[in-house]
Amino acid sequence: MREFDVIVVGELNADIIMRLDSPPEPGKEVLATDSLITLGSSSAICAVGLARLGLGVKFIGFVGDDDLGRFILRRLHGEGIEVEDVEIAKGEKTGFTVSLVHGGDRALVTEPGVMRKFDLKDEDFPKLSSARHLHISSPFLQESLRTATILREAKVRGLSTSLDPGWDPLDSRWDSLKPAFQHIDILLMNQVELERFSKGKGIGAIELPRRVIVKLGSMGSTGRWDGETVSQPAFPVAPVDTTGAGDSFNAGFLYAFLNGYDVQEAMRFGNACGALSCMALGGTEGFPRLDQVLKFLGK
Ligand code: ADP
Repeated sequence: MREFDVIVVGELNADIIMRLDSPPEPGKEVLATDSLITLGSSSAICAVGLARLGLGVKFIGFVGDDDLGRFILRRLHGEGIEVEDVEIAKGEKTGFTVSLVHGGDRALVTEPGVMRKFDLKDEDFPKLSSARHLHISSPFLQESLRTATILREAKVRGLSTSLDPGWDPLDSRWDSLKPAFQHIDILLMNQVELERFSKGKGIGAIELPRRVIVKLGSMGSTGRWDGETVSQPAFPVAPVDTTGAGDSFNAGFLYAFLNGYDVQEAMRFGNACGALSCMALGGTEGFPRLDQVLKFLGK
């Protein structure tokens, strides 16, 4: 019997989100119409989503030795996530992202902080055995993380695995992640990332993993699942802030997958979580509880 459903190994940072009526220009100042300082990072938003849906979640990562780091730890703990192995890295600074939300889109600036230095130590590999699934997000923001090795160690220990590559800020390291693909059961990404990995050739150009889900924003999601083409439309909503929509989709999809839903149902569940998360400022603020998703889905 494994103690947790999902173990998330990855980056932790904060989000400073501001909604603007007009974009900022050098030398001038604009006032935000709404703002929020909250938990950020792809890994953390997904972990919170999984926990809210009722799964047992453990997080392994670093935060900096500062107020922001302690804020993140409190938030994760408050969501019922096991944080025993989230280390406060001495003398290091917690990363954060400034997100400027304007006209249905957002511009992001990230200070990676200590996430640059995080890796899972060899002696901690056995800790992976405490869960039945491993999820990793944003490997390109975590320069020290041995993504392929950790995924392999999880597979050796009988876990299923998922990865969301996120964006590569250098836009030059896409191929470097390919060795990890053989250890991934489910690859989750958006359309631009698919374009980069496939060099514009589309999903058919990706041999492994056999299960690939592509998030299409207001168009929903599509993918390839054991050779079958799958797709599900989005739910029509008027988004307030799409921060974390992709991570919320991931949480919903993985929840459904781990609970034995078929792939189309899991995509629908992910689309619902993505849509609901767009309805509030912040990555986790709009994330629903299980009964809210079921109600939204008319169940
Ligand atoms: P990412 O944040 O990774 O780029 P997307 O923007 O594709 O991901 O959003 C993830 C999911 O959230 C989508 O697949 C969709 O289900 C939902 N979603 C995102 N934007 C909207 C929107 N404008 N309307 C409805 N659903 C949305």
